[in-house]
Amino acid sequence: MTLEFTLTRNPSPVADDARERVLAAPGFGRHFTDHMVSIDWTVDEGWHDARVEPYGPLQMDPASAVLHYGQEIFEGMKAYRRADGSVWTFRPDQNARRMQRSAARLALPQLPEEDFIEAVRRLVEVDEAWVPSGGEDSLYLRPFMIANEVFLGVRAAETVRFMVIASPAGPYFAGGVKPVSIWLSREYNRAGRGGTGAAKCGGNYAASLLPTQLAAAQGCAQVLFLDEDGTDLEELGGMNVVLVKADGTLITPDSDSILDGVTRNSLLQLAEDAGHKVERRPVTLAEWRDGVADGSITEAFACGTAAVLTPIAALKSTEEVIGDPDAPAGPVSTALRQQLTDIQYGRAEDPHGWMVQLTGAR
Ligand SMILES: *Cc1c(COP(=O)(O)O)cnc(C)c1O
Repeated sequence: MTLEFTLTRNPSPVADDARERVLAAPGFGRHFTDHMVSIDWTVDEGWHDARVEPYGPLQMDPASAVLHYGQEIFEGMKAYRRADGSVWTFRPDQNARRMQRSAARLALPQLPEEDFIEAVRRLVEVDEAWVPSGGEDSLYLRPFMIANEVFLGVRAAETVRFMVIASPAGPYFAGGVKPVSIWLSREYNRAGRGGTGAAKCGGNYAASLLPTQLAAAQGCAQVLFLDEDGTDLEELGGMNVVLVKADGTLITPDSDSILDGVTRNSLLQLAEDAGHKVERRPVTLAEWRDGVADGSITEAFACGTAAVLTPIAALKSTEEVIGDPDAPAGPVSTALRQQLTDIQYGRAEDPHGWMVQLTGAR
């Protein structure tokens, strides 16, 4: 049975002119809309009390389990406004199902797919005015789930809350897409065999912060992690990685400890549609190094919902630089990025039926 949502309107929403000022330069993750979704879960009652309510701070008992043991998962997706004013989102079923897989790993309850999608739809409907238009702007949607049982014993919580908040987002790259250099983490991993690497949980991000600080000190915004043996590529702190060969083949690591990105899967599908060969298999660092040296690997990119696709110009470490930090974006990366964003903003056909409409034209 699907959940019934109640709506309590925010009695003091952000004024129109103040909202328009935010939408003119939203940045990322700093401004939030007038409402949020909450759904509670208990062992006895299951999911209940689904509601859209005014955005605001949570009152939490300091003994809430999530604050101590990190039993938390999240998702990241976007709502896009089209030229006709309608608002759409991209493959929400994929995010709903991935959250169920993350929940299973973190011993959290699974929210049914239709309730997840309805939660997102309700929030975007009530905060429709917060969806920016133009450029590569969007409304970033952040579903998440926390263990809010008040108990310091170590076991899976018996009370949980699912929430969705929304934040207008500008283009990830203010000055257009720019290839980046990334830092190879030799000392630290983000995940290991049998760990939580395939789940979208806050703990994985916590583990990536120190290596990311070290990367920043080397002038790199992002870190590439290897597997625990230090031989195979895994992924960045929050983005998947893909290599492109001179013959057009796309290669991406296959591993149980990386996050199964919706952006990566979609870009690889578009590449296959365009006749590229796609390989999902273990990829060694040596293969990247040798391929760049002999010219058989011509491009690399990182991908995820927030930045869509970021070309990787070079991989740096204390030992070496693979690639050319000044290299421009390659043709395959550029074309795939354009194709995917054209579908997301309704500028191109959607051959796989990925887009889901949330609100009507205006
Ligand atoms: C969210 C995330 C990604 C990208 O996934 P998308 O579904 O493409 O946004 C990649 N790696 C990690 C670790 C992530 O958390």
